[in-house]
Amino acid sequence: MSSVKNVLIVGGGIGGLSAGIALQQAGIQAEIIEYQPEYKVYGVGIIQPSNALRALDQIGVADQCLEEGYAFNTFHMCASNGHRFTTASTLPLGRFPGNNGIPRNRLHHILLEAARLKGIHIRMGTTVTHIDNQSDAAHVTFSDNTSGSYDLVIGADGLHSKVRSLIFGDQIKSQYTGQSVWRFTTERPAEVDNGFMIFGKKSKAGLVPMTKNSMYLLCVTAEGDRPKISEDQMVSKLKEHLSEYTTPLVTDIINRIQDPKDIVYRPLEWLLLPDPWYQNRVVIIGDAAHATLPQLGQGASLAIEDAVVLAEELQKEGAVSEVLSAFMERRFDRCKMIVNVSKTIGEWEQMEWKGTPVPDANIGALMGRTLANMMAPI
Ligand SMILES: Cc1cc2nc3c(=O)[nH]c(=O)nc-3n(C[C@H](O)[C@H](O)[C@H](O)COP(=O)(O)OP(=O)(O)OC[C@H]3O[C@@H](n4cnc5c(N)ncnc54)[C@H](O)[C@@H]3O)c2cc1C
Repeated sequence: MSSVKNVLIVGGGIGGLSAGIALQQAGIQAEIIEYQPEYKVYGVGIIQPSNALRALDQIGVADQCLEEGYAFNTFHMCASNGHRFTTASTLPLGRFPGNNGIPRNRLHHILLEAARLKGIHIRMGTTVTHIDNQSDAAHVTFSDNTSGSYDLVIGADGLHSKVRSLIFGDQIKSQYTGQSVWRFTTERPAEVDNGFMIFGKKSKAGLVPMTKNSMYLLCVTAEGDRPKISEDQMVSKLKEHLSEYTTPLVTDIINRIQDPKDIVYRPLEWLLLPDPWYQNRVVIIGDAAHATLPQLGQGASLAIEDAVVLAEELQKEGAVSEVLSAFMERRFDRCKMIVNVSKTIGEWEQMEWKGTPVPDANIGALMGRTLANMMAPI
């Protein structure tokens, strides 16, 4: 076992909670700080591909996710009029289905309960203000003026990570891709028993089952350099985007969209922190190190995998620098692949929607190859 015995995790989201559970399981004491005074879990649903379920299984919560979500193996690919031109099967892995859709707040609840059951102390409404990052320990000052010393600090504080900026400076920033995603939760009709991707001329829509009774509609659009949408425009803008779809799969939903508060709209940003993601006693994981577009449904999967792999490496003998270097060896190329492929798909989509498609761009083939690569052992 490495010399790391007590760890501070900054950020109690998907990656931070997973890291806490994985570390406690490995016999390493973990404490989490979360800057929200109480959790407000944004978002709608999450697609958990089989590699995410494999990682969740390692922290003991895959079965609960399957119980509370909706497992499916295929995505039907359709034209805007509903014509199905192909069906893409996603790869089951061992006993796990190709995908599990789950409401984001259910996933959060499952991870939070598991963390609490492991006895992890979670301090809400707290962040870091300073890290004195030495070679033998990280000395942390918190926003409530308390302080503590840790063998390791994990920055799992998302896209706009404070830990990343304290350690690596402010020059590494996320970049807007030109695309945004709109999402709307609604009742799931029986015919939506698998995922659907529906391709328009100016956007892409999708239906993702989440539970026995619910699904979400997504619509990926190009918003140019004006991604901000005011609340009073939310409903009309989304309806305008959806007007190019004539399939009842979409038209049946349009009338249900009445309240802007039911729409979750998000401009899409990406970020890849160069290798290494660690310095002395601080390491960055999840979106804070590699935020990606949702095109491959892999962002949260990568955060959970980071957590599992880091805990595995920390159980091995070796100096902390060796352990963290071994962690990078297992994580960097895999995460870089997802960030880059998702970005490429987003760029190709935008070219197509402008009427100038990239010659020979084959999004389906690229997605298939990339997702197949993700099934390799981590
Ligand atoms: C529209 C959209 C759809 C997506 N769909 C999918 C999908 O279907 N499947 C999938 O796998 N992924 C998906 N993702 C990606 C996924 O949401 C992220 O990759 C995942 O949430 C990353 O987890 P994280 O823990 O690294 O960061 P977050 O989930 O962002 O968690 C960070 C946590 O840190 C806290 N925090 C922030 N700053 C501080 C601070 N200074 N101090 C203390 N705490 C702090 C935050 O409050 C939060 O709780 C999607 C993303 C988007 C934007």
